[in-house]
Amino acid sequence: MSNVRVRFAPSPTGKPHTGNIRTAVFDWLFARHNGGKMILRIEDTDRERLDPTAAEEMIRALKWVGIDWDEGPDIGGPHAPYLQSDRRETHLEYANELIKSGNAYRCYCTRERLEQLRKTQEERGLPTGYDRRCRYLPPEERARYEESGATYTIRLAMPREGTVTWNDAVFGDMSWEYRLVDDQVIVKSDGFALYHLAATVDDHLMEITHVIRGEEWLSSTPKHIFIYHSLGWTPPTFVHTTHILGPGRRKLSKREASSEFMNFAAEGYLPEAVLNFVSLIGWTPGDDRELLSPHELIESFSLEGLVGHPAILDEEKLLWYNGQYIRSLSLPELAKRALPFLIKSGLVEQNPSPEKLNYLASVIALEQERIKTLADVASVADFFLLDDDKYEFDVKAVAKWFNAAGVGERLAWVREKLAALSLFNAETIEQVIRLGIEKFSVKPGEVIHPVRVAVSGRTVGPGLYELIDVLGRDRSLRRLDRALTLVSK
Ligand code: GLU
Repeated sequence: MSNVRVRFAPSPTGKPHTGNIRTAVFDWLFARHNGGKMILRIEDTDRERLDPTAAEEMIRALKWVGIDWDEGPDIGGPHAPYLQSDRRETHLEYANELIKSGNAYRCYCTRERLEQLRKTQEERGLPTGYDRRCRYLPPEERARYEESGATYTIRLAMPREGTVTWNDAVFGDMSWEYRLVDDQVIVKSDGFALYHLAATVDDHLMEITHVIRGEEWLSSTPKHIFIYHSLGWTPPTFVHTTHILGPGRRKLSKREASSEFMNFAAEGYLPEAVLNFVSLIGWTPGDDRELLSPHELIESFSLEGLVGHPAILDEEKLLWYNGQYIRSLSLPELAKRALPFLIKSGLVEQNPSPEKLNYLASVIALEQERIKTLADVASVADFFLLDDDKYEFDVKAVAKWFNAAGVGERLAWVREKLAALSLFNAETIEQVIRLGIEKFSVKPGEVIHPVRVAVSGRTVGPGLYELIDVLGRDRSLRRLDRALTLVSK
């Protein structure tokens, strides 16, 4: 199926959310699996809803998650332009053709009339929709409107009877009675075609073979098929992906549904983890694999794997994916990815030296098992990066471990022994601590915990000996000295 051509066609009306990106991911996987083409088209004809930065943000989000495209507004292509507002004339040409063939008409109804109509319908408990007044205007009245130069919209003249059928790649055989479909506006009074016409015309001209989009567009498909048939074109294959629900099959909260996709980047998720996670919202590779690299996703993707029931978006699961991917990164790579987060939190300076980067890699080596997001590195490793007189002591830890009888003596002893070590590494450090436990005849924790609090300020963290080894002798001694000033007995 190397002639596969799919398009991701976002409307730039706000920030991208997971639902948008999921559609793009499915488009991309399908195109790449089949050696076909992925097209990005920006559907910006609804000028009232336009958000001027949204297209750029969409492009940033797509690139971040690893999606690329073969044709699009930023790179051009054989069917340019890919910004729909630049295709206005083309859309109008086909709108006029539809008028000529009697499949569309000019509507002169004012906004006020339409609002009044809706109000009356609602009051009477009737279904809302256009009453087709202008479809059946007497010719002289129509001529009067035309002569007066009155503004108008263009509406589809939907058939009043008959059924439209199509085979949806996910929903199977669909049939819809035409009489239930409203005479939708396809060109607004500002001369811009609206979605139904613009998308259909462009899908045809751009030779789109498969239209992949959310289930919410299912009820629009009869209008699109009507346009295809009216213009003598063959419709593409429609692929409607199912709704997204929250865990426990509950409706997504507004926050979840509209939550900005790029928050994932800001919160320290890895794009490959997010790609893996998003791909599996409503698609299955047909076996129980959960961790799939981009390559494996492409290899396994098929429309048959799209599920016919609502898909679940479980952000807890994303955290799990992220942990898995973080553990699969090499240390230098993980350090590189964590760096912007550390710089942002002020723990590392811009353009750190190679020594600092090496140090960072050893710190991260100790934390790799525990961190779930890149942002976690800043909170679990801050004491490694702060100056020896700046890292904070946890008040409770100090109260518990620095007040015990004899703790000052034990810390001072450990300090002297560490200072005297000829070889300073995790093993020799462990020997010192063990020796201390024996010498003072105390429980291991009575040496280990105060030392840990002394050098890190807290009671939890990576293995103590490795921690001290990575901090290095000079810094560990300075920290023990600082702690000794806080010890009461
Ligand atoms: N512009 C529409 C949207 O943003 C595209 C729908 C479709 O893919 O046909 O959802």
